[in-house]
Amino acid sequence: RRDITVKKDRWVTDLYTVDTILGKGKFGEVKKCRERRTGRHLAAKFIEVGGIQDRKDILNEVDIMKSLQHPRLLQLYDAFENRDSFCLVMELVNGGELFERVINDDFILTEKACVMFMRQICDGVAFMHSQNILHLDMKPENILCLTREGNRIKIIDFGLARKYNPKDDLRVLFGTPEFVAPEVVNFDPISPSTDLWSIGVICYVLLSGLSPFMGESEQETLSNVTFATWDFSAEEFNSISNEAKDFISKLLLKDPRKRMSASSCLDHQWLRRSVKREGNNT
Ligand code: ADP
Ligand code: MG
Repeated sequence: RRDITVKKDRWVTDLYTVDTILGKGKFGEVKKCRERRTGRHLAAKFIEVGGIQDRKDILNEVDIMKSLQHPRLLQLYDAFENRDSFCLVMELVNGGELFERVINDDFILTEKACVMFMRQICDGVAFMHSQNILHLDMKPENILCLTREGNRIKIIDFGLARKYNPKDDLRVLFGTPEFVAPEVVNFDPISPSTDLWSIGVICYVLLSGLSPFMGESEQETLSNVTFATWDFSAEEFNSISNEAKDFISKLLLKDPRKRMSASSCLDHQWLRRSVKREGNNT
């Protein structure tokens, strides 16, 4: 385990050659880079201080990344701070956002591929929750594929992640309307099940290409979320198995206490389907 301290006496460009842009989020811009000493290819996330994120928010992201060592969770490699920004050097993930797999019309994800994705997502989130950390921004933009063709993923973006103590009354007001849980919209206490709601939405989206709560306006979307108004009536679900629908139904529940935990998701019969059996069917 390498101990990563945020470097203040040097900047990323002193040690790395920074290259083309990989992606952009709400808080940061991520560029490809190469460590000159080792030739290693990595990704550098540049975050401005005092924009949407305070210095302490960015240090929280660094701290959380350092504390999470798991193959499904993006690993931090190095970190820099200068007068007005931070740069987090992280593993490079080359296959693009899971989001791109969904919006590609020519390509409908098979249930088998969805099972593979969901298993890894639940595996990573179960580990986070075992470490008492909530992700709080689970969505297909924050899940990257290792390769263009393959089905291996990593969870990224710990910018909104929080340490969680069941005794605390933790409430937050942020996230993406389409993926955010009712307790967030209502500013009620959050818990690990807050991530499980988002995982349910991700699963619905992967299987159908449709967003379960999306309304005409953001306000309508949020209202659909708070009332947990959703169904499987779209024809996209005609060919989806009952096990998959059961899986989603046990996550998109308004009452957080009734939702499956990440580890119980892994025990659900849909995710326990053997890849071999699935392979014979398709
Ligand atoms: P934000 O906190 O601003 O949302 P993210 O950490 O989600 O920033 O990064 C923004 C985008 O950059 C991601 O959605 C993804 O497309 C790309 N990206 C982030 N990290 C990596 C990485 N390690 N390898 C490749 N692309 C990345
Ligand atoms: Mg992001």
